[in-house]
Amino acid sequence: MKEIRTRIAPSPTGDPHVGTIYIALFNLAFAKKNNGKFILRIEDTDQTRSHSTYEKNIFKSLKWANIHWDEGPDISGPYGPYRQSERLEIYKKYAFQLVEQDKAYKCFATKEELKEMREVAMKTGSRIGYDRRYRNLSKEEIKKREDQNQNYVIRLKVPLSGECTFEDEIKGTITTPFADIDDQVLLKSDGFPTYHLANIVDDHLMKITHVIRGDEWISSTPKHILLYDAFGWEKPTFMHMPLLCGKDGKKLSKRKNPTSTFFYKDSGFLSDALINFLTLMGYSSIDEKEFYSFDSFIKNFDVKRIGKSAAFFDIKKLEWINQQYIINSLSEKQLLEKLKNWQFNDDFFEKLIPLCHTRMKKFSDFIELFDFLFINNLNYSDELLLVKNISKEAASSILHVMMILLEKYDTLTSEVFEKCSFEISDLFKAHHKKIIMPLLFATIQGKKFGPPLFKSVPILGRDRVRARFLNAIEFLGGLSNKKSSSLKSMLEKKDLSEIMNK
Ligand code: GLU
Repeated sequence: MKEIRTRIAPSPTGDPHVGTIYIALFNLAFAKKNNGKFILRIEDTDQTRSHSTYEKNIFKSLKWANIHWDEGPDISGPYGPYRQSERLEIYKKYAFQLVEQDKAYKCFATKEELKEMREVAMKTGSRIGYDRRYRNLSKEEIKKREDQNQNYVIRLKVPLSGECTFEDEIKGTITTPFADIDDQVLLKSDGFPTYHLANIVDDHLMKITHVIRGDEWISSTPKHILLYDAFGWEKPTFMHMPLLCGKDGKKLSKRKNPTSTFFYKDSGFLSDALINFLTLMGYSSIDEKEFYSFDSFIKNFDVKRIGKSAAFFDIKKLEWINQQYIINSLSEKQLLEKLKNWQFNDDFFEKLIPLCHTRMKKFSDFIELFDFLFINNLNYSDELLLVKNISKEAASSILHVMMILLEKYDTLTSEVFEKCSFEISDLFKAHHKKIIMPLLFATIQGKKFGPPLFKSVPILGRDRVRARFLNAIEFLGGLSNKKSSSLKSMLEKKDLSEIMNK
């Protein structure tokens, strides 16, 4: 019988998402239940957004969650390399093979042309953004353009009529008219593949039998089916898992919820409890049991028990599960060890000593200084956050934009935070010392006075810092999607001063 092979294929373009752990657990369980293999592949073909720090963090977060893979970039395997940036020649070869077979074509559209096509599509309400103008160029025309060194991408020839149907093991039959699918770009002009091409070439070459991934990829699947057909390859079985959703019923997003695995680690959740919680998402266990080890989850794993609808990520429930784990699975001695490993250790305390050395009259002041590093929910008040009587909207806008600025950096250092705080002050034309600093201070430390802000930020860690911004914004009444997109466009114009005057 054919070996069952599953994989996760995260892109190292941001903090390690808790959704990666969620999807990994189901892939791992399915592979192990069937004596198969579980593979880790890094999809780093988005050159501008991929970063090695993010890749390292993916490894770190998976390992923290006790997820181990049979093949991957760090341990190699029979179908490597397992990092897409090391496989570029393979994708090129396959893209040009499709051109040879007239299943794909070279498209010479310029940026301006594409923009114009998108505008026309918007006006006419067409679902297709690219009007296929280079689909039928003559050989001579192509040669002429190539001789002139014109840039091109390779696009797939999507059928002009008919529909694509596939069976999703979880969702059932899914049908999409070809008329809704653009001629997909497979190879970009810089020779890098798009997600679609690289993903299916690798799934094929790595002999993946079951693609288990999040619901958000379901609209890409018809494009993948087309590619499998174009190459004449056998398709894997597809299973699209229910999305993890926040309180608002929308996909868990880092702008609204803590999504980084490190937030949960740094806040002192047990990895076993997080795993148990995540496997409960979108899955109903035998006997509706809520507590089980991952081994017994694997033993009883049944794809039919995966739900169809979105899974609500309720942090209160996670806290409750975590508490049950603390009570039932840890002896007092083990609890002590876990606490020490968490933050009550020399490594952590050594970071604090320089910040308190000159600030204590007695040792008990230590707790008052650093309380904010050990607790998750601070006591915010209007009085604390609305410095100089700025409006709630101004305060939450400042915090939101600060979050966006910080996201541009792959690590959070004191210098990065300081730089962004000055940038914010310029953007909002708000006094750095009198408005920006007290607001940031209150958001991070939940008080007006304490150890130096810039130095304490990296100790709290990037993910808990972001969670504080989110909590403070929520306390101030939240920001609508409309408001956050208008902030984004004001940010592009580099002037947000009008918000301060409201
Ligand atoms: N690189 C995609 C991601 O970031 C992979 C999606 C898939 O599993 O096909 O999740």
